[in-house]
Amino acid sequence: MRLALKIDVDTLVGFQEGVPALLEVLGVHGVPASFFVAMGPDHSGRAIRRLFTHKGFWQKMRRTGAPRLYGLKTMLYGTLLPGPAIAASAPDLLRRIPAAGHELGLHGFDHVYWQDRLPHVSTAAIQAEIRRAQQVHEQILGYRAISFAAPGWQCTPAALDALVAERFYYVSNTRGTSPYFPAQGDRVWPLLEIPTTLPTLDELLGLDGRRPADFNREIVASLRPGQTHVLTIHAEVEGRVCLQDFTALLEEVQTLGITWLRLLDYATELWQQWQHLPRQAMAPNTLPGRAGTVTCQVPRETPP
Ligand SMILES: [Zn+2]
Repeated sequence: MRLALKIDVDTLVGFQEGVPALLEVLGVHGVPASFFVAMGPDHSGRAIRRLFTHKGFWQKMRRTGAPRLYGLKTMLYGTLLPGPAIAASAPDLLRRIPAAGHELGLHGFDHVYWQDRLPHVSTAAIQAEIRRAQQVHEQILGYRAISFAAPGWQCTPAALDALVAERFYYVSNTRGTSPYFPAQGDRVWPLLEIPTTLPTLDELLGLDGRRPADFNREIVASLRPGQTHVLTIHAEVEGRVCLQDFTALLEEVQTLGITWLRLLDYATELWQQWQHLPRQAMAPNTLPGRAGTVTCQVPRETPP
């Protein structure tokens, strides 16, 4: 059984408080992970707009106790409060991620902009957004990032064009079951996609009365021998209010004799046998507990 831990850092509080806490826990347990940091401003307050546009957003906010999960200030950034820079707020902290042996990739520049506006912006605008994120990474680390994870699992053909142009080694943009090359009709993008395969805590928390311990049980139960799973956690959630629950999950998974791997190492392995990877379509779909849609790997049609 193998498990890749993908850690999305969407907010300032997730970066400044969640990342150090997670680095500590991962260090103690000797677990390598892949961090994806939103490099630009924290505009989380603008996500409140989703109240009016996404069915189910308000229910999700109430069910998960969002103000407790994210903090009130975070919920006002970009509206009543100016949106502070995330990565540039603590360059030393950003450098600590690869220094500790973890992977560091891009989680876009402005997370909320990508998540909410992607279908309405041009390839050039998406490319500009990626380049801004890359610039911040390069200024702080001295080299370019080679991996990218789409904010909010939002991906479009225009985004794929932009990501191909920016020459990423691999991307993790979608939800699905196994790695693939994104395709649409006859068109195939030469971009290795490694999807998130498991549900996230913020989706399932409170759903049918689920508590974090129930979530942990479900994750452990879905790990199968011979499979490589990708679990996404959020620095602002599992790195703060749910840190104890996440640590419990880590410890439970450790007892199963799991092999942890970074997405980067998984990608290297996959590139060695890329001819055998499927070409598959991606499409927006709904997931239990998540408001709006996310981009999902479309299952291959099985012959009748
Ligand atoms: Zn995110």
